[in-house]
Amino acid sequence: MTTETKFDAIIIGAGAAGLMAAMTAGQRGRRVLLLDHNAEPGAKILISGGGRCNFTNREAPANRFLSGNPHFAKSALSRYKPADFIALVDRAGIAWHEKTLGQLFCDGSAQQIVAMLMKGCRDAGVIFRFDTPIASVSRQSMFHVKTEGREEFRAPALIIATGGLSIPKLGATGFAYRIAEQFDLPMIKPEPALVPLTFDQPDLPLMRGLSGTPCEVVATAGKTRFREAMIFTHRGLSGPAILQISSYLKAGDSFTVDLLPGANAREALLATKRTRPRVALRTALAEHLPQRLAHALAPEDDQAPPIGETSDKVIGALAERVQNWRLTPEGTEGFAKAEVTRGGIDTRALSSQTMASNDVPGLHFIGESVDVTGWLGGYNFQWAWASGFAAGQAV
Ligand SMILES: Cc1cc2nc3c(=O)[nH]c(=O)nc-3n(C[C@H](O)[C@H](O)[C@H](O)COP(=O)(O)OP(=O)(O)OC[C@H]3O[C@@H](n4cnc5c(N)ncnc54)[C@H](O)[C@@H]3O)c2cc1C
Repeated sequence: MTTETKFDAIIIGAGAAGLMAAMTAGQRGRRVLLLDHNAEPGAKILISGGGRCNFTNREAPANRFLSGNPHFAKSALSRYKPADFIALVDRAGIAWHEKTLGQLFCDGSAQQIVAMLMKGCRDAGVIFRFDTPIASVSRQSMFHVKTEGREEFRAPALIIATGGLSIPKLGATGFAYRIAEQFDLPMIKPEPALVPLTFDQPDLPLMRGLSGTPCEVVATAGKTRFREAMIFTHRGLSGPAILQISSYLKAGDSFTVDLLPGANAREALLATKRTRPRVALRTALAEHLPQRLAHALAPEDDQAPPIGETSDKVIGALAERVQNWRLTPEGTEGFAKAEVTRGGIDTRALSSQTMASNDVPGLHFIGESVDVTGWLGGYNFQWAWASGFAAGQAV
C-alpha cells in the first residue's frame, strides 16, 4: 500500500489502455498511480478472444475504425503499430499464432498478456491500487482524486481509461462519460457495437428454428461489407459478419445478407432445373447451403412440384432471398452482450497527439472511452495500446 499522495500522473482504469499508459509513463521515469475499482486488472483482456486474447491485427489502418472524425486515430496508430506490440509479446516470450484475416492470438492464455503488462508496470515503478472505487475527481492547481476509502491523491495529469459500457458485469461503468460531463467535454452517444442483432416478425421464427446453424455470408450495409461467418440464434443473428455490420447500423436501418457468397444461386438452380428436373427445389438448394437452412428457406409440402415444374419466377424469388436477404433488426442484445461501445468522448475535444482535452490541460481520455471503435479482429486492443502509449508519452 502506498503512503504517497502526489504523483506525476494518475490513471483511472487498469484495462488494456490504462496498463499501457501506466507502463509507458513509468518507463519514462514518471511517478504513476494506477487505480481500478475491480480487484484485479485487465478483466476484459482475460476473457477476450475466447480466453486467448486477439491482442492485435497484422495491419491496423485507420479505415478499420469508426469515429465521428475518421482521421483522429491516425496519429496514435502510426506512432504505436501492431509490430510494436508484437515485439513486446515476443520479448516476453509469449507464443502466438495468426488466425484468419490477420488476427493474432496467444497460443496459451490471455492471462499472459495481463501478466506481461503488469510486469512492465511493476518494473517501471507504477503504484497500483485495486479494489478502489473513486468517490470524486476535482481540479484545482492539480487533479485531486478522492477514493471511497477517503484517501486523496494529486497529480498534474489525469488519464481516464475506464472504457465503455459493454459488459457491466465485468466492471464497465459510465465513469469516463461522467468525467467528460463534469469538465464540459462533448460526447457522442454511447451505443452497443459488435453486438448480436435481434429480430421480430416476420424473420424471427425462421431464425429461431435455425438457432445454432452457422454459415459463411456477406453482410452489407451501404458501401460496407463483411464476408465472414454468421450464426442464427434464438433471438436473431450473431457471428463475426453480424457483429461487424452491427457497428454500422443505426436504429431502424436495414442491411442485406448474401447466404451464398461468390456463387450465383439463380443460375445454379436453373442449371439443376435443366439437367435434373425431378429433384425437389429444397434438395437442389441444399446442394449449396447447410441442409437446415435450405429447408427453412424453401419449405415444401408433399404436393410441391419438382424443380422442373417450378417457374423461373419462383426460382428467381428464392435465389433473391438467398443472395439479397433484406433484414431490419428490431434491436440489439445490448451492452450486456456488446463487445464494445461505439461513441464516447467526442474526438473534437481531444488532441490526437496526446489524447489530452483541448480545454482542460492535463486531462486525457484513452481506449474505448473515446469515440474510436475498431472492427472485430484485434483492432480494439490495438487502439487501446496506441492511445495508451500516446498518453503515456505525453504526461
Ligand atoms: C467478450 C469480449 C471479448 C473481446 N475480445 C477482443 C479481442 O479479442 N480483441 C480486441 O481487440 N478486442 C476485444 N474486445 C474489446 C476490448 O476488450 C476492449 O475494446 C478493450 O478492453 C478496451 O480497453 P480499455 O482499456 O479502454 O477498457 P477496459 O479494458 O474495459 O478497461 C477499463 C477498466 O476501467 C475500470 N473501471 C471502469 N469503471 C471504473 C470506475 N468507475 N472506477 C474505477 N475503475 C473503473 C474497469 O474495471 C476496467 O479495468 C472484447 C470485448 C469483450 C467484451
